[in-house]
Amino acid sequence: MRAQPHASHYVDGAYVEDAAGEAFDVIYPATGEVIARLHQATPAVIDKALAAAQRAQRDWAAMTGTQRGRVLRRAADMLRDRNRALSELETLDTGKPLQETLVADATSGADALEYFGGLAGALTGEHIQLGADWVYTIREPLGVCVGIGAWNYPTQIACWKAAPALACGNAMVFKPSETTPLSALKVAEILTEAGAPAGLFNVVQGMGAVGEALVTDARVAKVSLTGSVPTGRRVYAAAAAGMRHVTMELGGKSPILIFDDADLEDAVGGVILGNFYSSGQVCSNGTRVFVQKGIKERFLARLAERLGTAVIGDPMDEATNFGPQVSARQRDIVMGFVEKGLAEGARLITGGKRIEGDGFFMQPTVFADVTDQMTIARDEIFGPVLSVLDFEDEEDAIARANNTEFGLSAGVFTNDLRRAHRVIARLQAGSCFINTYNLAPVEAPFGGTKQSGVGRENSKAAIEHYSQFKSVYVGMDPVDAPY
Ligand code: NDP
Repeated sequence: MRAQPHASHYVDGAYVEDAAGEAFDVIYPATGEVIARLHQATPAVIDKALAAAQRAQRDWAAMTGTQRGRVLRRAADMLRDRNRALSELETLDTGKPLQETLVADATSGADALEYFGGLAGALTGEHIQLGADWVYTIREPLGVCVGIGAWNYPTQIACWKAAPALACGNAMVFKPSETTPLSALKVAEILTEAGAPAGLFNVVQGMGAVGEALVTDARVAKVSLTGSVPTGRRVYAAAAAGMRHVTMELGGKSPILIFDDADLEDAVGGVILGNFYSSGQVCSNGTRVFVQKGIKERFLARLAERLGTAVIGDPMDEATNFGPQVSARQRDIVMGFVEKGLAEGARLITGGKRIEGDGFFMQPTVFADVTDQMTIARDEIFGPVLSVLDFEDEEDAIARANNTEFGLSAGVFTNDLRRAHRVIARLQAGSCFINTYNLAPVEAPFGGTKQSGVGRENSKAAIEHYSQFKSVYVGMDPVDAPY
């Protein structure tokens, strides 16, 4: 098997196997080939990982921030040096085209490690003078953090969670999605090689039950999940029972508003990036595209034309820019939404068909004349299905864009400067875009409002979610007690 790792888990600085855990196959989505066979973590492996994390965290937190940052920055350099091999593994794991993984996965993980490595030495508390008395605050780590990942960006998600957690002096036990379990093991290996103490970043494999065992363990102080809203509700509730901190990066059904005065090529390009990158499997995708009536037909014609040039096929060929869905199950779910769109009366502009063969391919799909009540306009599809909805005036578009339980992202395309900022100010979403879409640099906060999540990843904002303040009041005068 061409991507078989040394063992299923990475615990306490080394690969660990426990064949007593139920076996599961890792499948290359482009061919259906089994590329690795792993075992789910047993209670013994989970316990070992948490105990190792707890031990490592104490030593790690005792180091200076600059020393911790040096390890993270070294790991960032290693990710960049090994980008090609890591990208090939990511492509095998996810089916995403190498053209994408070469620039968006290990490189994005490296950005996070570099950024938070740089911040680590600058994390401080503050001094608050109160006359003669004073208060100082100590920024402390939370302790052992659990990271749980979705399957679309396995390297990036592992790094986006590990980098701020470790910078603040925490340790982490990470559970990747069982659909894409391979890349996080490489991140763990690299962190060890970069000088992280054994046990600081552990990877355990398994399905929801393994995640649940981690989330409910008394040794865990914080849970950071990237996943769907229903899973988020379950994990948040389980974490709350133990009063644990959480970060929830959940799903979306984000709107993009295109006004008549928008630059047509930019709008079409933004919508392509916001719907078909990673074969549509991106949480922040702008899948409800509200197009003003005056530009609609030109927009649809140009979108169909440009989608016609998508290169669908072997993800290892660097010319390919549209790969398969991550699994047969996911492809079937997405095709079910296409059927619903047709049955409920949406107009198919392009795509809509499954591509026969061993891989899990389907065509990039665009529906027009979609109404707010249709299933494809309400539910997160998490696949390459774009819905175009008509609108006439700004007020109507904003109200309809906000009429959803989700609030992850939103975008606006217009050349009217005032309108752009006015509209964005009223859209209910955490990550917004003007005349572009789906860029997520580590310097900017990323995360959702409403049902799309709690907390923020990336940027200085993430530090607040992986540390807490101890405040210390220092009395300088005699104590004045009433009796
Ligand atoms: P799921 O919600 O199905 O799973 C997410 C992770 O949670 C998986 O590792 C899963 O394990 C685990 N899990 C499932 N049940 C439990 C439980 N009870 N306790 C602890 N862990 C559990 O999401 P998908 O993997 O299908 O990913 C797609 C979803 O992720 C979409 O909704 C997408 O929008 C969202 N997403 C959000 C992002 C964001 O940053 N906002 C980014 C990327 C994706 P297993 O899969 O092994 O069962």
